[in-house]
Amino acid sequence: MNSTTPHPSDLDTLSLQLRRPVRDVVEIPARCTCGNPLVAATAPRLSNGIPFPTTFYLTHPAATAAVSRLEASGLMAEMSQRLSADADFAAAHRGAHENYLAERERLRGVAGLDPVWEIEGISAGGMPDRVKCLHVLVGHSLAVGPGINPLGDEALERIAEEFTPQICICATSWDHEAAVPQRDLSRHVRRRNQGFARTQDADAQDRVSQDPEETA
Ligand SMILES: [Zn+2]
Repeated sequence: MNSTTPHPSDLDTLSLQLRRPVRDVVEIPARCTCGNPLVAATAPRLSNGIPFPTTFYLTHPAATAAVSRLEASGLMAEMSQRLSADADFAAAHRGAHENYLAERERLRGVAGLDPVWEIEGISAGGMPDRVKCLHVLVGHSLAVGPGINPLGDEALERIAEEFTPQICICATSWDHEAAVPQRDLSRHVRRRNQGFARTQDADAQDRVSQDPEETA
């Protein structure tokens, strides 16, 4: 199964990987060699109306854990320093930002949504000028392939001993026998989902926190 079109079993797998019900998944842009999803591409506006800037969400638990360790090592501060010191590097990072927005726009079309003005020009992960979330950059790199997001590509190289899309470690990476978390659109769960979004991209989420749905 290598199609980008989400199959119902993909949605169950994503829910098990994230331990919460997934929703508004438009594509599976990256898969393990075994076919399991590595990244979920989510519609830029959720069906409850909330704008969702993290278009490419890294879901594979072994990948998210390895990237979290990389973040804890202080790599983002080092990358940010390099961005301010190297104009070519900074330009490549801005190019990744532009690609992120273009891909989101394409997915908006796939989802049949109107323009999402709240996040217009806002990508994720600190792009275009900063490095705020490596999960976002790695998710983007896996989704669009190498050569587009240089910092995501670099982070992937650095975690290659723990996780690489070329080697399947799915069997030991999450509980495949657990009950699939079920869809629940109650306010409580919505809040929890927003909290989860924050962990991967607090910055972009903060910038859309004026959404009336959220503050009502
Ligand atoms: Zn696998």
